[in-house]
Amino acid sequence: MTRTSRLVIAFGINVCLSVGLVLAGHVAHSTSLVADAGHNLTDAMAILIALVATIVSLRPPSDRRSYGYGRATILAALVNGVVLTFVTISIVWLGVSRLLHPQLMHGGVVVIAATFSLLANLVVVWLLMEGSDDMGIRSALLHSVSDSLSAFVVIIAGFVALFASGPVALRVDPVATLIVAGFIVVEAIRITKESLHVLLEGVPTDIDVELVRQCLCSLEEIESVHDLHIWSLSSSHRVLSAHLVVKGDPTASATAPLIARTRHLLDEQFSIDHATLEIEIAPCSPETSHL
Ligand SMILES: [Zn+2]
Ligand SMILES: [Zn+2]
Repeated sequence: MTRTSRLVIAFGINVCLSVGLVLAGHVAHSTSLVADAGHNLTDAMAILIALVATIVSLRPPSDRRSYGYGRATILAALVNGVVLTFVTISIVWLGVSRLLHPQLMHGGVVVIAATFSLLANLVVVWLLMEGSDDMGIRSALLHSVSDSLSAFVVIIAGFVALFASGPVALRVDPVATLIVAGFIVVEAIRITKESLHVLLEGVPTDIDVELVRQCLCSLEEIESVHDLHIWSLSSSHRVLSAHLVVKGDPTASATAPLIARTRHLLDEQFSIDHATLEIEIAPCSPETSHL
């Protein structure tokens, strides 16, 4: 199955599930089912964003956009993080108002609907597991894992409503609603933080700059390294720029193999596929380098 067809199927499952859960929530007088529906709807959105971003990011670089469109995925993830925050706020509002005006929910309907939601989300998790090296797909995958957990919470709430009585049976629905909101807010914070880090040209989280510096200095021709920058263009492309001070006074043709070796080393050790290297025979003056 191709990446696109996996995403399309996962999107379809989540949209149908959201509609079904809202209907079941109304029938069962359950806000936690509606919260679960909201969670699945944002999941559908995350997948839709990943799909559109994939198509956009395949557009080749142009003279005006020389880096291409890889960042589209990151921007989409940021938008998704912001949308998730608003979804959380409305679900919290729903839960709190139900807490203030409790209503008995039909535990049986809730258990059946939430079990269905859990199974559907596990199918989506399985579908997305393959492409999880891509940030867009990974965020959609993590989202579905957390969807499965929140469906599980709603199932438990349904059982409690079935077998408990009095205030416990009345309060379990809004409490489950707030727990589901908690799951969504964790996702919202994570997605927003990750995408902001890339947009702020942050160093990829699995790369230690000091280790890269040591690795470069371990090449015998290299005396020292400065102006070392590492950042991500998209979830799959990493870029580096650095000034390399070399020993002695080599000719241009003598430094060519060094540059080739350095590029290869960076790609092999740190998956940095685009390196811009400036060769210097003495460190450039600090006034000219601001970063
Ligand atoms: Zn989610
Ligand atoms: Zn320099």
